[in-house]
Amino acid sequence: MANTCVECGISWQVTPRDQAFYDRMSVPPPKSCADCRLMRRLVERNSRTLYKRKCDKTGKEFISPYHPDRTFPVYAPAVWWEDGWDAMSYGREVDFARPFFDQFQELLNAVPHQGQFVVGGTIQNSDYVNCAGYLKDCYLIAEVDYNENCYYGNRLYHSKYLVDCSTCYDSELCFECIYCIKCYGLRHCRECKNCSESFFLDNCIGCKDCIGCINQRQKQYMILNKQLTKEEYEKQKAALKLNTFDGLQAMRKKADELFLTQPRKPVQNENNENSTGNHLYDSKNCEECYDSKDLEDCVRCVRVFSVKSSMDYNSWGDKSELMYQCAASGDKGYNLKFCTTCTTNNSNLDYCGHCTGCSDCFGCVGLRKKKFCIFNKQYSESDYKNLREKLIAHMKKSDEWGEYLPKQLCPFAYNETIAMEYFPLTKQEALKRGYAWRDVSDEKPNVTKVIPAMKLPQSIGDIPDDVINWAVTCSVTGRPFRIIKQELAFYRQWDLPLPRKHPDQRHWERTTGRSGIKLFPRACGKCSKQIQTTYAPERPEIVYCEECYLKEVY
Ligand SMILES: [Zn+2]
Ligand SMILES: [Zn+2]
Repeated sequence: MANTCVECGISWQVTPRDQAFYDRMSVPPPKSCADCRLMRRLVERNSRTLYKRKCDKTGKEFISPYHPDRTFPVYAPAVWWEDGWDAMSYGREVDFARPFFDQFQELLNAVPHQGQFVVGGTIQNSDYVNCAGYLKDCYLIAEVDYNENCYYGNRLYHSKYLVDCSTCYDSELCFECIYCIKCYGLRHCRECKNCSESFFLDNCIGCKDCIGCINQRQKQYMILNKQLTKEEYEKQKAALKLNTFDGLQAMRKKADELFLTQPRKPVQNENNENSTGNHLYDSKNCEECYDSKDLEDCVRCVRVFSVKSSMDYNSWGDKSELMYQCAASGDKGYNLKFCTTCTTNNSNLDYCGHCTGCSDCFGCVGLRKKKFCIFNKQYSESDYKNLREKLIAHMKKSDEWGEYLPKQLCPFAYNETIAMEYFPLTKQEALKRGYAWRDVSDEKPNVTKVIPAMKLPQSIGDIPDDVINWAVTCSVTGRPFRIIKQELAFYRQWDLPLPRKHPDQRHWERTTGRSGIKLFPRACGKCSKQIQTTYAPERPEIVYCEECYLKEVY
């Protein structure tokens, strides 16, 4: 059956697999296409745009993803988790003369929100973090667990001393890396495993002391895919001056030129059975799942792990099942539909936000361990069931049932959220689609001097310790940024020049430079077999099918 997306106008199909899932969840097919739906749900996740704001209960300042101008109350996390307030006191009757979403919006605007997503009691000396647990001495990292001394990054797990890295696991002492696993001492590398002491690697495994290489396995002393002796390697490495800004720039350019002449895998998947997507690992019977691990029977899930039988679900997971059109929810969720930010041991929820340990609730906000509630009001089991049916019938009439929360209910501006990493939009495009936008306004830095990035010395040896009292203006955006003490020590230890771009610009370039979350049909560059790849046909990279790629590499 062909449908036209009510939002972007493209034609899309409800597949038999989709329909079977809709039947199982007792919902009608959605009205917008998969991309428009994902975009909407991604805007529920602001992991790394953080603000200093006041807790609306204690007046104390803290760091929050909610801008101070938000109209709903926001409590610091410890305060939110205390028993000093009761979400049930905001309970209200259903008004069948009005649309559901209008009433739900009023409830959302009344109930206090948890002001920062951190696992209470596990964060040491790391105030500027979000969506985080088990951290020590970290700064400006988000979607992270079990890290120490990591600064500026996202999706870091079980790692130490990572600076400007994204999606890295079990790694240490890396700078400006993305999608690296079990790596040590890497700089400017992508898609590497078990590599160490190297610069500008792409898709390498088990390499050490290599520079500007792609598709290498268990190699040492290679530069630009050429094997050298140890002596030659040391000599050429010294001549490259990788401790200077210009030296790094020149090597980046040479490496990128070489990489364009070498084949790539169609997608970066591993250990899957009967599954499609990208950056998908250890999964079975999945379709179009991205940046995810341990999934079974899932369709269009993004950034989740340990999930079964779910569809259109992003951000979190962790032993969750039957999740449909949910965002930022997880930790043993079961049968949740159209929810946002519902955490730990929830089951059978429809249209709920910020609930924990609840079951059989509809349209509730901020509840803890409640059952049979609608709009935060308690009912008996039979009254709940009757009222739920009546409310669904009402929502069918008002064309609301089966649709995710409308955009005006979203607490974040489009450009504050992870939606920008998958679907980058301009301000005009975001506004046209009905999303909010927040123009960046940096506080004037309280510093002794501000210097333009291009005036920074070439190498760290020429930078005085006093630089931590300055601000640097980003060479791309002109935004001022500071260097923190721990960061400076890291650059000194690794003889790296100071970055010349604002951390947000660095994040943006790192995360949007990777291949995306759309699969395109394309012919293998070697055997012409039809493949599905995240490299669009017009992109310049050479893409091989899995078999041809492996033949080439091994
Ligand atoms: Zn669409
Ligand atoms: Zn091939």
